[in-house]
Amino acid sequence: KRNTAQLQALDAAHHLHPFTDHRDLGGRGTRIIERASGVYLWDSEGNKLLDGMAGLWCVNIGYGRRELADAAHRQMLELPYYNSFFQCTHPPAVELASAIAEQAPAHMNRVFFTGSGSEANDTVLRMVRRYWDLQGQPQRKTVISRINGYHGSTVAGASLGGMSAMHEQGDLPIPGIVHIPQPYWYGEGGDMDEGEFGLWAARQLEQKILELGVDRVAAFIAEPIQGAGGVIVPPATYWPEIQRIVDQYGILLVVDEVICGFGRTGEWFGSQYYGIRPDLMPIAKGMTSGYLPMGGVIVGDRVASCLIDQGGEFFHGYTYSGHPVAAAVGLENLRILREEGIVDYAREQAAPYLQQKIAALAEHPLVGQVRGVGMLGALELVRDKRTRERFPGKGAAGTLCRDLCIRNGLVMRAVGDTLIMSPPLVIQPQEIDELFDKAWRTLNMAAEELR
Ligand code: PLP
Repeated sequence: KRNTAQLQALDAAHHLHPFTDHRDLGGRGTRIIERASGVYLWDSEGNKLLDGMAGLWCVNIGYGRRELADAAHRQMLELPYYNSFFQCTHPPAVELASAIAEQAPAHMNRVFFTGSGSEANDTVLRMVRRYWDLQGQPQRKTVISRINGYHGSTVAGASLGGMSAMHEQGDLPIPGIVHIPQPYWYGEGGDMDEGEFGLWAARQLEQKILELGVDRVAAFIAEPIQGAGGVIVPPATYWPEIQRIVDQYGILLVVDEVICGFGRTGEWFGSQYYGIRPDLMPIAKGMTSGYLPMGGVIVGDRVASCLIDQGGEFFHGYTYSGHPVAAAVGLENLRILREEGIVDYAREQAAPYLQQKIAALAEHPLVGQVRGVGMLGALELVRDKRTRERFPGKGAAGTLCRDLCIRNGLVMRAVGDTLIMSPPLVIQPQEIDELFDKAWRTLNMAAEELR
């Protein structure tokens, strides 16, 4: 067995990482995570870390559930692979599609499977354009999305996303995708009160539709709560106004549930939390609790009936669409979420306690704003609470806290100077206490260094 230094040397020589500045590893080398159980990770040095991020917002049922490994093992022996192209299917894909449709809003009854959330959003772009072609309005191609939204890393996903750093690398977005402001009141609300700002941000959509001409607009896409953008919780006025606008102009509504789906908000889907009526919902992550890669698009009846009844064959699909082993794991994950009442536990017990603890962090001198919904939380670091002045060196305070967190045995993510948490839904009250003890200790240490 190779030791840490040997693994790090090989990693440095051969592994090109996603979202990593290879020059900037602080002389430490990459952190090697070796095993996990429940809400904890262990690295190759034997350090135990509480995973406040559930991996990348995905390990909803927690680590180490043998039932998922057993489901994968059984399925690999029974049928390790077959496709769902050309009038074929297999039992795990059928069972999973129907189980997901049962949990989805009543008007959404079909699932198109993909291998990831990014592929789900590529599928969305093709589906909405296909829908309008079939409606005899092929000029309706433009998709409106939001600045600082995240919809994946493929060309379509990164284009739909509104991350300027991603757009700058690779000449994105592709044509036919335009971005409107995000509903980020704390950072961009100016003098408006929160409710007023929520309406203003939603009406940016209406303005953009009118500017482009409604007959050119295919869809609006957004996350219920922007995750990678910094857990941007929209004001309460935002989603009802968005719903009014998409209904009034008849454009399709795509709600990206890749993070919010499968219980993250305390409801099965973020759309249900906000009472939104989407036409399409991209999903991934919590769909298998990250145990195997899988994504999909839950398709509402309006789009499904058009694609099927008028469209005939949709020339689109992935070798791994509905992969039988991933589907078997997804099905077992869904069974556990349901039978163990994990979404109810998140809504009724874990989330209220987590949110109470997050709210208390607002007292810390470094914390300008706290926000959160369900099992998502964020704390935004500022130098001056009253003026909201930031620390110098964009994101440096966030990075410092993230690194101090690790030293204190906790994983949190930094988005600029915002610290984020999204722990497994199964986290227990004493583990939530531990998470926040470690977060407080981290903030105190950071305050010393930033003074
Ligand atoms: N959509 C949202 C809202 C996400 O947060 C992500 C990933 O973080 C994606 C899409 C892309 O999913 P994947 O990384 O599985 O391609």
